Amino acid sequence: MTKKEKIIVVGGGHSGVEAAAAIARMGCSVILITHKIDTIGQMSCNPAIGGIGKSHLAKEVDALGGLMAKATDMAGIHYRVLNSTKGQAVRATRAQADRGLYRAAIQGLLNQTPELEIREGSVDDLLIRNNRVEGVITERGEKIKAKKVVLTTGTFLGGIMHFGLEQKPGGRIGDPPSNKLAQKLRGLPFRYGRLKTGTPPRLDGKTLDWKKMEPQPGDIPTPRMSYKTTNARRPKQINCHITRTTAKTHEIIKKALNQSPLYTGVIKGVGPRYCPSIEDKISRFAEREAHQIFVEPEGLDTTEVYPNGISTSLPLKTQEEFIKTIPGFEKAKITKPGYAIEYDYFDPRDLKHTMETRHIGGLYFAGQINGTTGYEEAAAQGIIAGINAALSLKGQGAWVPGRHEAYIGVLVDDLVSLGTKEPYRMFTSRAEYRLILREDNADLRLTPKGRELGLVDNEAWEDFKINKQAAEDERNRLKRKLIYPNTHEARKLEEETGEKLNSIKSAHELLKRPQIKYTNLPVGKLITKQNIIDKIEAEAKYEGYIKRQNQEIKKLQKNENTPIPKNTSFLNIVGLSNEVKQKLEEARPESIARATRLPGITPAAISLLLVHLKRKAAG
Ligand code: FAD
Repeated sequence: MTKKEKIIVVGGGHSGVEAAAAIARMGCSVILITHKIDTIGQMSCNPAIGGIGKSHLAKEVDALGGLMAKATDMAGIHYRVLNSTKGQAVRATRAQADRGLYRAAIQGLLNQTPELEIREGSVDDLLIRNNRVEGVITERGEKIKAKKVVLTTGTFLGGIMHFGLEQKPGGRIGDPPSNKLAQKLRGLPFRYGRLKTGTPPRLDGKTLDWKKMEPQPGDIPTPRMSYKTTNARRPKQINCHITRTTAKTHEIIKKALNQSPLYTGVIKGVGPRYCPSIEDKISRFAEREAHQIFVEPEGLDTTEVYPNGISTSLPLKTQEEFIKTIPGFEKAKITKPGYAIEYDYFDPRDLKHTMETRHIGGLYFAGQINGTTGYEEAAAQGIIAGINAALSLKGQGAWVPGRHEAYIGVLVDDLVSLGTKEPYRMFTSRAEYRLILREDNADLRLTPKGRELGLVDNEAWEDFKINKQAAEDERNRLKRKLIYPNTHEARKLEEETGEKLNSIKSAHELLKRPQIKYTNLPVGKLITKQNIIDKIEAEAKYEGYIKRQNQEIKKLQKNENTPIPKNTSFLNIVGLSNEVKQKLEEARPESIARATRLPGITPAAISLLLVHLKRKAAG
């Protein structure tokens, strides 16, 4: 690698910033080109990070030295731990952010990153020779050479915004679309399609009647998204609120469906199933009398609020009409209308696990361009694309976490192996090894690798080692500390938890019982950091299950290590049904483990494939 060789990242959204920052942390020079420097780190939709499955991604990006979780804690104004009464595997942190503070935090973190140059502009074309990318061409005709280009253009490719039956070209409100680049990409041998997503109208909080809504305070003590955050410098915490749609709201929306681009067939793209518009909710769940709306503040210094749950593409007039039927919104003023956006996405099955495209060497795609939805999904892909672009530039082998190592691994593998026909979002149910992939242990799973790759700075590494040691020491202490029946300690424990002690038990054994928490143990609490407590509790309570999952992983790894040679002709494998043969031929999995996860590929088909490979290997 010569000093001049650079990597270009196109797009300053959630994916682009993680890609660019990771490349720079790994010691490579990077140019981040984006439409507007001011909108770097902009949250296009609701100002919130985390939630089920998503906080796992944010914390994994953090464990690899990424920006998202740190920026969240610099901007977070309301936090909740979701599923807090359920097991740790599905527990998730959700933070409401001050939109302006979040953007400023991301921009500040990028500005502190050496080797990272930021340029404002639009990339309209790619320089490609012999199926390899050689750089980009901007709207001013400037050619910028680079051996690797990471495209993270979000909802901007061929973006069309819908306000009722009115359409406007745009990448999101206030931003132009990327039509020339979309045209270029459509001319390359990638499969592509159209998807859509939507956003609700924003309201002026001064015009709302807060007394009519149910306040929803954040958790105390305030949780953290980043492993590095200390509680000393956190923004002020404020409440969210809850209200609901009414029969009148539903009536107005039903009557206006003939003006909805969704229901008149104007929008062809598929929308996010798990984040439906209010039109969708009312049509699909006609029996429901009300739909919940989370009234979320946009920030500390603004009165604008985000009514989460009523994303819509109905005309502004209808939005104004139905908004007023919602308790607390009777006099509400809309500050920005809700709208839907349709955009091009490129089939992620045309990507390698490194996020490099299969058809054009050195060209990487990450984020919503790959058919995902959500900031966290975008950030996770961005960091993987960035890491691998940098590794490849340095002539080093690729790195992508496996499904048993990270939700990031699950995300990338799902996209690349299965593709997606609707906006893909992460859920804990997508992971096979949920007990191992917890939010509390993303650092244990990924920080050592992040350090090896050059992503984790000295301070974060020292913190990690200290915290890891503290958890180990405390676990050992709890194993040594014995509690005797019929003592003051045992009686206190029974009073607090209802758990009776019939024989001598170590504090660690007691922690395995579902009702007993670390804070109940009559042993003196040496640990105060919640994250370390969560680790100690989870590993005690799920010890048996974790062991079993680790055994399964070992078994799977045996297969994972069985590569499928590139020249394998799946159509010639004896015994497979034509359907299975075709699926394998189309997906061309690189390993048995990847073949296992293709839809419709049965264990019997895998056995036949293994026999075929063994026969071939034996000659
Ligand atoms: P983006 O955040 O979109 O960033 C793309 C960046 O690329 C921008 O900075 C843009 O200026 C830049 N760019 C694009 N083309 C070029 C070019 N040619 N040259 C230079 N720069 C370029 N997610 C949810 O999870 N739930 C939702 O309900 C939801 N609703 C949404 C509603 C709307 C209206 C929109 C627009 C998005 C919504 N999202 C939602 C999606 C969420 O915003 C994205 O998933 C996330 O922002 C994707 O991150 P990204 O980095 O891939 O792209």
